[in-house]
Amino acid sequence: MTRLLLHACCAPCSLEPVRMLEEEGFEPTICWTNPNIQPKDEHDRRLEELRRWTAANGIPLIEAREDYDAWERGVAPIGARDRERRCRACYGLRLAEAVRVACDEGFDHIATTLAVSPYQLFETCNDVLMRLATAQGLTPVIRDFRPWYPEATRRSRELGMYRQNYCGCRFSAAEAALDRIRLRDERKAAKLHA
Ligand code: SF4
Repeated sequence: MTRLLLHACCAPCSLEPVRMLEEEGFEPTICWTNPNIQPKDEHDRRLEELRRWTAANGIPLIEAREDYDAWERGVAPIGARDRERRCRACYGLRLAEAVRVACDEGFDHIATTLAVSPYQLFETCNDVLMRLATAQGLTPVIRDFRPWYPEATRRSRELGMYRQNYCGCRFSAAEAALDRIRLRDERKAAKLHA
């Protein structure tokens, strides 16, 4: 088995990447570093779910540093104006910390569970991981886990896991709420015209 550090954004998004990476012959250790998640209660709830799931399944978990001030300085000012730039900065902050942990703990391979969610910016995330990992001599394990997102949703529901309905930051909470309103209005309009 090849040791791999897997940056994880939450427990539900870890399910399928862990399963598939293990099938490939990797031995994942999960790394939590997500200072983007707001408010604090939400952050703690996601972390607690990850702790519970990793402990129950014998998966090692490293809780890395989380620089909330750096997120406010480097990501928050971009705000809602430019999602690609905001998320790139956010991925950069989190994955840089995961890369630091991988180097310190002697891992050669690194991946992220962000690659399972169709709501993430897949190409941007992979680009950030690739640049940060290779700069430190690590091998980024880039996989498209997105086709397994429905299975992750099904399994996490079956396991009774806590499932959030937005990415993490306050901007994403507002964007997700607007999306839900838009979809509700579209369904109403479709019914009226049916
Ligand atoms: S939407 Fe998600 S990835 Fe993008 S800045 Fe917010 S928390 Fe970070």
